[in-house]
Amino acid sequence: MDADAASQLAAIKGRIQKAQERFGPPAPDVTLVAVSKTFAADAVEPFLAAGQRIFGENRVQEAKDKWPALRERYPDVQLHLIGPLQTNKVREAVALFDVIQTVDREKLASMLAAEMQKSGRKLPCFVQVNIGGEDQKAGIATDEAVAFVARCRDVHGLDIVGLMCIPPDGQPAGPYFAHLATLARDAGVTGLSMGMSGDFETGIAMGATHVRVGSALFGTRPPIV
Ligand SMILES: *Cc1c(COP(=O)(O)O)cnc(C)c1O
Repeated sequence: MDADAASQLAAIKGRIQKAQERFGPPAPDVTLVAVSKTFAADAVEPFLAAGQRIFGENRVQEAKDKWPALRERYPDVQLHLIGPLQTNKVREAVALFDVIQTVDREKLASMLAAEMQKSGRKLPCFVQVNIGGEDQKAGIATDEAVAFVARCRDVHGLDIVGLMCIPPDGQPAGPYFAHLATLARDAGVTGLSMGMSGDFETGIAMGATHVRVGSALFGTRPPIV
């Protein structure tokens, strides 16, 4: 099991490096966020043992059940929230996560800011953009994204480090990633969280600084029951 995790991790890192070399020079720094959602602690632990420290979870409750015990053994873990955040979970999210990637509306921005102020935990955040304009997806509309980043910073005082997106299924992701990169430049942020198991190399080719890789590392996700 440990050997599997180490070799999976090495394989993905090798692919990231190849994609970086194609994009560069200079090769950008790319952070691998290992998306451990739906995988139990005993499936995640071998990746910690193999040296991975940055993980993504999409549900507050699941992360709360899974991570405190793992963190006791691996205190330098950095947890990213990559799923939608309900305002009634803001307090728990700020206590548990180290980066929030899914800031996508005014009310959430304001509540996150208030909670960070209160708790003294000022977390780096990404604004999630609904890059394909899909009804079923979270994210701020593309034509509001630049102004929203400005309000998150200037009105709410959030530390917005970049933009995040999930492009539409079944279409080439490249043009969507390119659009996100343009919006980030216009908004004056440098972080770009884009690319998952199926398209992280495309993300890197378009300038991703963070890729969120789940199934290519951990295997097929168990069905949600
Ligand atoms: C599940 C998830 C991922 C990882 O997806 P894979 O295709 O398994 O790599 C990345 N980002 C978000 C927001 C997710 O919900």
